[in-house]
Amino acid sequence: MTERDIINYNVRELAGLLYSREISAAELTGVYAERSERLNGSLNAYISLNTREALRHAEEFDRRENNQGINRMISGIPYAVKDNIAVRGMAMTCASAILGGFVPGYTADVCKRAGDIVLGKTNLDEFAMGSTCERSVFGPTPNPLDKKRISGGSSGGSASAVAAKLAPWALGTDTGGSARLPAAYCGIVALKPTYGLISRYGVTELASSMDTVSPMTENVADNAWILDMLSGKSPADMTSEDSKEYSFPCIGKGVANLKIAAIDCGYPLFDRACTRLEKAGAKITDAGGALDEIFERAIAVYHFINSVESFSNMSRYDGLRYGAKGEGQTYSEMVSSVRDRCLGEEVKRRIVTGAKILSLEPNGGYYKRVLDIRSAISAELGRFMSGYDALFMMTTGKEAPYAGSESDLPEKMYFMDSRTCIANLSGCPEISLPIGGKEGMPVAGSLMGKKFSEPVLYRVAYALEQELSGAISCEVRHFDD
Ligand code: GLN
Repeated sequence: MTERDIINYNVRELAGLLYSREISAAELTGVYAERSERLNGSLNAYISLNTREALRHAEEFDRRENNQGINRMISGIPYAVKDNIAVRGMAMTCASAILGGFVPGYTADVCKRAGDIVLGKTNLDEFAMGSTCERSVFGPTPNPLDKKRISGGSSGGSASAVAAKLAPWALGTDTGGSARLPAAYCGIVALKPTYGLISRYGVTELASSMDTVSPMTENVADNAWILDMLSGKSPADMTSEDSKEYSFPCIGKGVANLKIAAIDCGYPLFDRACTRLEKAGAKITDAGGALDEIFERAIAVYHFINSVESFSNMSRYDGLRYGAKGEGQTYSEMVSSVRDRCLGEEVKRRIVTGAKILSLEPNGGYYKRVLDIRSAISAELGRFMSGYDALFMMTTGKEAPYAGSESDLPEKMYFMDSRTCIANLSGCPEISLPIGGKEGMPVAGSLMGKKFSEPVLYRVAYALEQELSGAISCEVRHFDD
């Protein structure tokens, strides 16, 4: 099979070919490894490549595997991993100088489930704090469809790797929109799962009460299939949830009589998507500005909580335990020297902001009020959602911005998450997928649902994808190597 043949298969087709032994894991991995080596120089999707080890693991898979069921084939398919997820023996940087030289001695639960064939670790905004993938110590990851634009962040490297076919699929993380936003800008699919559905063990903490791991794929059905393999309770993460609620859904079941609230009517591509869903039998309600006020509060509350939790999580980077070493005679001299030297501006800003918020009133009183508002937002959203099966909206207001245009002021970048962060605050699942194109660049919509309603979201997303795929392939340019 040629490189073209192989990269045109989707993940489930590859699983089928592995199962029937029409292709070996080594052959498949060889193609993606060679492609990644060849193209990563101009794309900067990967911080580090692991192609030799990936091939070794692929050969091991071929020797070991004796047709134990098609779902086992996930571990014969190579994939890319965001560099804030630990894989034993592979350097993990979180795109920060402070982790220079750090090699984890353990593998994240999610990677144990996905298998050993890791093509490389992908770029991100430092410690996943960002929306543009321009705040990495390894430089920005441009959008593979137009390199003058951003890939989006923080999981820009993973989105770019999938969009440019440097990997059949990738892992990202999503704490406020970090998988959905770059997926939207690069024209791929990302799920922010229900909080706890995928174990966080081995995933670098940003804001622990909102952190999730995201499968990032070219299409909806691959995403649903992969989630089935990745989800489930883990003894190593007490917040992980039993996945019996989730199993690969009958995504082709259609959308007849599903009730969907739409909040961005008036935008032509969004309206077209709604019309197609209606034709397929869904009941769409134009919910206009019903959630405007919640969204407005959500972005502020999200950043308060994110700063406080990141302040607390960042305390472990003290110049003693991991990576770069601090200088000085006392503990505090060492901490401040290493942080001053090795942390970027946005990370420092969150540490200082988080500390400030906690000290505003005695006993964290101010912060407790922020948490009350978070609960109120979740409750209000829950009341609204009780009347619907899904909420449909634009993932972001526009197609991928030009490089440098959104990252000059922190508040500009923060507002990029104004639609996405509510799913993280409330723990609800949300999937982003392309719904059309403008000037050749993808435009995405998102479906949010109640906790553990991933099967419903996948059904709606799949129906949309089927309805729109013809139009999208005319409207969105393709990556051309
Ligand atoms: N852009 C958001 C932030 O900077 C989201 C980050 C994320 O999801 N990791 O916090």
